[in-house]
This record gives sequence, C-alpha cells and structure tokens, in this order.
Amino acid sequence: MKIKTKKNASVTKLAKKLLAIDDQLTGCMHCGLCQAVCPVYGVTLKETDVSRGKIVLLENLAYEILKDIDGLSERLDRCLLCGSCQTNCPSGVNTIEIFLHARRLITEYKGLNRIKKIVFRFILPHPKLMSFFVAVSGQVQRIFRRKANENMGTFEFPILRPFVGKRHFQPLETKSFSAKYGKINTSTGKSGIKVAFFPGCVPDKLFVRVSQAAMKIFDKHGVGVFMPDNLVCCGIPNLVSGDYVSFKRLVKKNLDLFKETEFDYLVSPCATCVSSIKENWFRFKNDFTADEQMLIEKIHYRIMDITEFLVDVLNVDFKVSESKINMRRVTYHDSCHLKKTLGVFTQPRKILKNLSGLEFAEMPEADRCCGSGGSFTLTQHKLANKIGQRKRNNIVSVNPDIVATACPACMLQLMDMLSQNGDNVEVKHVVELYAENMAD
Ligand code: SF4
Ligand code: SF4
Repeated sequence: MKIKTKKNASVTKLAKKLLAIDDQLTGCMHCGLCQAVCPVYGVTLKETDVSRGKIVLLENLAYEILKDIDGLSERLDRCLLCGSCQTNCPSGVNTIEIFLHARRLITEYKGLNRIKKIVFRFILPHPKLMSFFVAVSGQVQRIFRRKANENMGTFEFPILRPFVGKRHFQPLETKSFSAKYGKINTSTGKSGIKVAFFPGCVPDKLFVRVSQAAMKIFDKHGVGVFMPDNLVCCGIPNLVSGDYVSFKRLVKKNLDLFKETEFDYLVSPCATCVSSIKENWFRFKNDFTADEQMLIEKIHYRIMDITEFLVDVLNVDFKVSESKINMRRVTYHDSCHLKKTLGVFTQPRKILKNLSGLEFAEMPEADRCCGSGGSFTLTQHKLANKIGQRKRNNIVSVNPDIVATACPACMLQLMDMLSQNGDNVEVKHVVELYAENMAD
C-alpha cells in the first residue's frame, strides 16, 4: 500500500500546479534544434542542460514520475535564461515563461536560501543602504584588492572569492550615480521630449560612467530627464530565483515613484532592465491594482533601450569620420536581452559604425551569450567562465582596441574574461563611446 506522507502530498500539490501549464510543456516537439544555440549545452553536452531536456524533466514532475525536487532545481538553475532556445524554437515554445514559472513553484515549495532572502528582501528594497555599501567598499578597496591585469586596470578581491570566485573588476566606485545626482527633474529642451531615466543597479553602482554618459547625451540633445529618488532594482534577480513576493514589492515601489511625473519615454542603458520592465512587469500586470496596471501598460509601450532611443526617436546625425588615421578598432557584443528579447541590434551598430575615430569590425558569433546571466555568473561560476571563454576568443579574433556592448551585466563578464586571459581590450558601453565622440 502506498503511504501518503506530508512530503509526498506537497510534491503532488507542486505537480498539479505545474500541470496547469501542460499545454506549454507539450508544445515542445523534442526536435532538439535548441541544442545548437544553447550556450550551456555547448559547453557540457548534457541533455538536461538544454531546454528540451529541462522540459522533459518538468513534464515528468507534472505527472509525478519524477519526485526529486532538489535534483530538478539544480538542473533548472543551470540556465542563463538567455532566450536563445526560445528565439530559435520552430514550435514557438515560450521557454523563458516556462522556466520562470517552474522556478517560482520550486522556490515556493523549497523556500528561498538565506543569503538570497537577505539580499532580495532586506537590501535591494533599500537603495540608500546599497549606496552606503558602495561608499564604504569604495573607500576600503585599496586594503583588499590585488592588481590583476595592469593593461586593463583591473583588480581581484581575494576576500570576495567565496561569493564571486576569482573575478577581475575595474576599481570600485566611491559614490553611486544616484547618491551623486539625487532626484533629477530637468525641463524639456530643444528635442521637446522628456524621458524618465532608469539607470539600473549596475550603471548606478558599478559603472557610474555609463549613467553619466547618458546624462551628457540627454543634455546635448535637449532631452528633459526625470529620475526619481530611491529607485530600486527592476526585480529580475528576484524573479529568476523564483522569489515572486519580493519581485512584486520592488515593482510596486518603482511604480509609485514613476506616478509622480509625465514622461514620453522610459529610457535605460541596461538591456536587462529594459527587457525585464517591458516583458516581466507586463507579464504579471494582472497581479497589480488597476492604477498600477495602467502605469505598467504605459511603461510597456514607452520603455526603450538608450541606443534605440538615440537612433529611432532622436534620429541622431552621427558624424562619419573622414580620417583613417589613428582609428581605434571596435567590435560589438549583442546582449541576449537586447537582441533576442527586444529585437534591438541594428541601432547600436549604426552608432558604432558612424562614430568618428572608430573602425567597426564584426566579431564571429556576436550574438552568442557571454555567460553572464546575472546571478548565473555567481552561482555557476565555472560554467560561466567556460561559456565566456568562447566569447573572449571571438572578441580577440578581430583584434579590437575596444569591445562595446549595451548591457552593463555583459560588460562585467567581458571585462573579467578578457582580463583573466591577460588581454588588453577596453570594455565600453555604446553610449560612452557616443558621449566621448559628441561635438561640444
Ligand atoms: S527547439 Fe523548441 S520544440 Fe525543439 S526541442 Fe527545443 S524547445 Fe522543443
Ligand atoms: S535560455 Fe539559454 S541557457 Fe537556458 S536552456 Fe535556453 S538557450 Fe540554454
């Protein structure tokens, strides 16, 4: 006789919830075309690392053939949520939606690990606390850092190895962008356009120069800017870890701040934030109040990556260089969120190809994932390094002085990979190059 234990009963409950998306799971015809594009499978060649294998495991759980939730959770975590499988799936399987849903159910079943709970629920909702951490770590970094790659000016922090591995960073900032600028509300100039600016956590705390470049560009083109004080994370780290409760809290906090002022577009230099706000806030909009739903819809149609804003809205007239002397060679890495989720890939190239002083060189596999994947690079450090090595090899194959991208999370990964290999390639955001190139 089969005895129904408490654990069995809760697995049954979890399986039933998963069965609710059975039509999505059965949409996979197991053709295996996702193998060719999956960066994780490309390194491990394990069927459970590609979306087809993960979907089979989820089907097995839905029908209670599989009951090892910890094992399943481990395999689901070996995914960058890069969207490469979804973009190339002939059956149109929405793999990202499936994996997000499964991660949420599993987190509800298992509970959230202690460190994530502290970060998601007690640190991310408090931007002033985060800015305080930036200031303190910026001040004391000299004691803890070791030079890593002299050419690239990078450092390693042995004290952080248990959390981030042997990672190379640029020097830490001593003040976050939001602490430097506070609330911004400038009037609309010659463009007649006002944007709400969402810097995103990485350009706010680690690459302040990217946010400053954006401000310089807005100023130059007479674009009014609204940036509320106390903006919080877009919620993507919470969502990918299945912590929907804290994701919703962060979204609500941000919505409350954006209620304050009218804006034509919401612009960010972070492709991950743009895709998360556009797709994920919208995906869960029915869980919010009527007023919040209206704002989520407005934002969904008005949010833009900054390169898209420059090219498609401002129609910037980039200065084409006539001189071929002292040209710096630049290549471009497509962020997965920017190209695969948002379909933006011509705009950054248009900017780079037309900036004076730059010679553009397309790298092989420019849209292959760099292995960053937000927290993936921390939790799956070895795997992220192996994926990143292929990207690094592709970058150096075109012998560039600079590799540009439009996602600060990718910038961290590219800088680390190049620095670890002893290379000498500058890592820049596209808008930094444009801001440097702009005529005064
Ligand atoms: S490409 Fe799509 S249909 Fe084919 S195996 Fe992968 S997820 Fe399934
Ligand atoms: S989202 Fe990316 S890493 Fe995850 S299974 Fe699909 S292709 Fe592989």
